[in-house]
Amino acid sequence: MVRTRRTTTIMAQKLQIITNDDFIEEFPDIGTYNQAPAGWRKANEKKIIENYQSRIYYPSHFAYRQLFQYHKKDGGENFKDGYVECALYIFSDKTGYAVKLNYATNKFDYYLFGCDHKYKELSQEGCRKRNITHYGKCYHVNECMECGHIQQYDSSD
Ligand SMILES: [Zn+2]
Repeated sequence: MVRTRRTTTIMAQKLQIITNDDFIEEFPDIGTYNQAPAGWRKANEKKIIENYQSRIYYPSHFAYRQLFQYHKKDGGENFKDGYVECALYIFSDKTGYAVKLNYATNKFDYYLFGCDHKYKELSQEGCRKRNITHYGKCYHVNECMECGHIQQYDSSD
């Protein structure tokens, strides 16, 4: 049997290692290798999907962490023992979600981090005054009332 190779276009991105300084500069609240990022909070699959489905489609960065135990008084999660292995999926709006391998339950635990954006739509006039690009009718510009992040998208409606 002769196999022929199919030629298809596959969209993929190759991971590239960046320096810790560049990483911290881009994501100043990301924490250290053993410290949870700012805004760390428990989540579930539904919450993560709701959080990202209408905004950003895929993460811009990935990081692996071993988070040490934290106590509530330190502003973190009260992990039971040792360190916790987490995969962090980080988005350009400086938020993200983490997946923790929970060996006790043989399931994943999920977390969100960064700002829990509270968006308010800006008018075309408001954008013009602030020198923010606005393309008109189907274009939407939202600003987070918590952190000031600007979200822009075309709804095509
Ligand atoms: Zn925000």
